[in-house]
Amino acid sequence: PSKRHEQLQRKVENGVREMWYLVKAQLKLMKSDSQAASVTDRIDNLLSDLGDHQRTILSDTQQLRDVDGGLEWRRQEAQALQDLVQRRLHYLQNPKDCSKAKKLLCNLNKGCGYGCQLHHVVYCFMVAYGTERTMILNSQGWRYSSGGWEKVFLPLSETCTDPSGSSRGPWKGEEKSKDTQVVEMPIVDSIYPRPPYLPLGIPQDLSDRLLRLHGNPSVWFIAQFVLYLQRYQPHLQQDIEETAQRLGFQHPIVGIHVRRTDKINTEAAYHSIAEYMEWVEEYYQLLQKSEEVQKKRVYLATDDSSLLKEAQKQYPDYEFVSDNAISKSAGLSSRYTDSALRGVIIDIHFLAHSDYLVCTFSSQVCRVAYEIMQTLKPDAAANFHSLDDIYYFGGQGDHNQVAIAKHERRSQQEIYLEPGDEVGIAGNHWDGYSKGVNRRTHKSGLYPSYKVEEKIELVKYPTYPEVEE
Ligand code: GDP
Repeated sequence: PSKRHEQLQRKVENGVREMWYLVKAQLKLMKSDSQAASVTDRIDNLLSDLGDHQRTILSDTQQLRDVDGGLEWRRQEAQALQDLVQRRLHYLQNPKDCSKAKKLLCNLNKGCGYGCQLHHVVYCFMVAYGTERTMILNSQGWRYSSGGWEKVFLPLSETCTDPSGSSRGPWKGEEKSKDTQVVEMPIVDSIYPRPPYLPLGIPQDLSDRLLRLHGNPSVWFIAQFVLYLQRYQPHLQQDIEETAQRLGFQHPIVGIHVRRTDKINTEAAYHSIAEYMEWVEEYYQLLQKSEEVQKKRVYLATDDSSLLKEAQKQYPDYEFVSDNAISKSAGLSSRYTDSALRGVIIDIHFLAHSDYLVCTFSSQVCRVAYEIMQTLKPDAAANFHSLDDIYYFGGQGDHNQVAIAKHERRSQQEIYLEPGDEVGIAGNHWDGYSKGVNRRTHKSGLYPSYKVEEKIELVKYPTYPEVEE
């Protein structure tokens, strides 16, 4: 299949999804406006019928992707691209002479949670890849483990973990830091000057292949760094395999991440279990179009220890799988311990290995899981539903879309679009509309999500010709 074919295929699927969001949201509004039983009954029937239509079309288009060798091609291409980038990272991280290698020093100890710290390291690693510097990770005194990063993950290098060098200094930009052997990175929010090697950009040399293969190449590229970073130590690998056995982790399974405790009303809103389960149910109804589902399994990850019981009670026809680590029930006080570390790694692992994710992308825990999911399937870009934000990376560059159709606004809340207009997207409201700013008119407001497409920044990364494909 050509690039154009693959892109159109994904556009159709997105279009069907967005149309369903619009119809569902509008019909629910009409229902709440109307008192007459004759009307509300008809709306209920329509919702049910249109839901079924939507799932039939979506299931057919998804299968269409995989017939005539499509699936085989996609698998091979995903593997080839992943192997290539992993080999490049391995090459970068294992210089022949560590005493002369250019290094980039990254401190793990950003004052935040595990997902946030991991993302901090990912951004360092991306800059290292862009500037051809071996990344040295300083994880001494890590709040999650006194034994440091290597207590759970393999070292980032077999030949070069020594942070010393003939000269050392803070990041001053690629050109100005050129002759400094060891460059120390600040946190992404305060990096100046900003290097081009930041999310959501993708490497130009791989862009044609990535745009053909993947529905979200930016996340795919981020995921490559996460994959290299999180190579489990053998004891962790064994622990995970035993946990999978013990919990009965089997497919099909939907992962849900319910982030509560300290996040609520500070960085995110409260969402009831029912809001998550609505999308789990949609997933299983769709799956039932193409296969018989014996058991509807849900992997539940949460920092709210009372939730598992509540979920089991409210949804008896689902099987909930959950790793009930004691550590996380104790809340904030014991958040940064070895057992909290184990708990969050295990939860992220099983969320990522689920077939579909329902969560709030405002949480870095779920964004990490979504990233890892991309390394396990050829294209899992659409295998999620977020109850709040669209995917983003803290400290990322502008996220722009391009209008592909004209939009005349119907109300004060909406904005005009001309084909070709760039729109900085703030969020998808999951009701057919997104919110953003038209960069031509500088007006902010709502616009139909289907009238834009993603504008993906291509970045001139080094191409690593030393590494064979
Ligand atoms: P965010 O605050 O949700 O964006 O994510 P962070 O990873 O930066 O910080 C939240 C921290 O809370 C995590 O790193 C964990 O230590 C803990 N946490 C949150 N949700 C879960 C969960 O579902 N399972 C476990 N085991 N820990 C969690």
